[in-house]
Amino acid sequence: MPNGWNARFIRRGRMTMGKLIDLTGKRFGRLTVIERDYEYQKSKKINCACWKCICDCGNQKTVRSRSLMNGKTQSCGCIKNERALESITELTKRRDIFLVENTDLIQLSKARIQKNNTSGTKGVYWNKRDKCWIATMRFKGVDVLDKHFKNKQDAINARKEAEEKYFKPILEKYDYEKFS
Ligand SMILES: [Zn+2]
Repeated sequence: MPNGWNARFIRRGRMTMGKLIDLTGKRFGRLTVIERDYEYQKSKKINCACWKCICDCGNQKTVRSRSLMNGKTQSCGCIKNERALESITELTKRRDIFLVENTDLIQLSKARIQKNNTSGTKGVYWNKRDKCWIATMRFKGVDVLDKHFKNKQDAINARKEAEEKYFKPILEKYDYEKFS
């Protein structure tokens, strides 16, 4: 039971909170409130009610009313740790997937949708000197396409065909789309 000092503190807590709400037994994310933590509140000189909570993972943590009520604290810290771990795993996974078979899948995927230059299709451009359309494509550091066309659409088609032939299988193989 709170002594006189604590009682004053609790009143202050109540004043800060407006009205002290009993959070015992309530759940906030992974935390279940066990009881008020007067010791913690006193030792930390906190001007707000603190609650001893048990996390789903088994750890105990004392949290301020405010942090529970506004959703700022939802675990003993294990959620944050898990997320950090997930993002590291995800990053590693992505890095592995991006650089496969000497190919950067990001660049590959971009190349499929990027539009630039004279034709509006990547890898297809107008050659002024020869007065023709040229369709080009590099794949794994090799020129796999370098053809001249009188007709622009033929050049675009050639480029699309090459993309289908070289890019699509590798993007599909590594299921790239779900990462992009
Ligand atoms: Zn936890």
